[in-house]
Amino acid sequence: MKALVIDDALMSATLICHLLRKMGIEAISADDGQAGIELFKEQRPDVVLLDANLPGLDGYGVAKRIRQLERDGEWTPIIFLTSRSSDEDLQRGIEVGGDDFLVKPVSEVVLNAKVRAMQRIAQMRYSLVVLTRRLDEANKELTRLSSVDGLTGISNRRQFDESLAREWARSLRSAAPLSLLMCDVDYFKQYNDLYGHQAGDECLIAVARVLQSRVKRPADVAARYGGEEFAIVLPDTDKDGAISVAETVREGIAELKMRHEGAKIGMLSISIGVASVIATREGSAAEMLLAAADAALYAAKQKGRNRVESAPGGSA
Ligand code: GH3
Ligand code: MG
Ligand code: MG
Repeated sequence: MKALVIDDALMSATLICHLLRKMGIEAISADDGQAGIELFKEQRPDVVLLDANLPGLDGYGVAKRIRQLERDGEWTPIIFLTSRSSDEDLQRGIEVGGDDFLVKPVSEVVLNAKVRAMQRIAQMRYSLVVLTRRLDEANKELTRLSSVDGLTGISNRRQFDESLAREWARSLRSAAPLSLLMCDVDYFKQYNDLYGHQAGDECLIAVARVLQSRVKRPADVAARYGGEEFAIVLPDTDKDGAISVAETVREGIAELKMRHEGAKIGMLSISIGVASVIATREGSAAEMLLAAADAALYAAKQKGRNRVESAPGGSA
């Protein structure tokens, strides 16, 4: 442990340094504020003993500067040394960032007790900083691993990718049909422009709720694909079944009757592309299903929006 003593009175500084060394603490000293700050920058001590009455830049100014020099999460205990011990001194010292007071002439016992106490607090604080950092990292990792979309609370893209891959493999094994719906809110850019981003986000939450409520089987997965696009995986569902689910989703959005003056019908609507297959190949063929649903969605947009279009059926 290293202590920095900033005191212009030679006798007092020498005594304090001597006592600190007796306690097994490395002591360095400066006899004015500016030199003390330079030494602080260079040596990064674990505790600072700071004379309140210094010529030029006084102890309060030095304490302020030290607090500015500390990096995020850093804290160096500062103990003020003063010959007077008025309440105002104490208050001012604490205000500028001091942690404790020692009245000169310094008693060995009191110095020992205060330095040890500060050391203990500094260690606890350090552990807390380390813990907080670990917690931050764990939280980030959790978000990364999370399967839920932060805004809407339905499955996120990651979860969607996983379920599509899983269901593709299942379809391959069981020769059961697999369907995919790609949904895209109509004229959503205008919705944001007209009503603001906040309203846009609330709209997405409402859309997600409709999707969730219209998709009923336990294995079905409705997910936010990205932005204002949603995707629904329907295992064990053929093209006709998928089209009827898509239709109820589209109707569900229409039944919200959300005003949208930027849309031709004056109300919020959604377009949906449907693709169905019975998987016959492994791997990236799932992406072809996605591409087919996307192409069908594009066709729905071209045909005027607020409608369901399906890709020509088949196997892949
Ligand atoms: P179209 O009918 O052809 O789908 O038109 P569109 O405006 O919906 O389509 P486009 O893909 O051009 O615009 C999507 C817009 O959705 C872009 C952005 O303004 C908005 N958007 C995307 N993600 C979010 C989001 O998370 N929150 C909000 N509020 N808006 C979003
Ligand atoms: Mg879009
Ligand atoms: Mg859109």
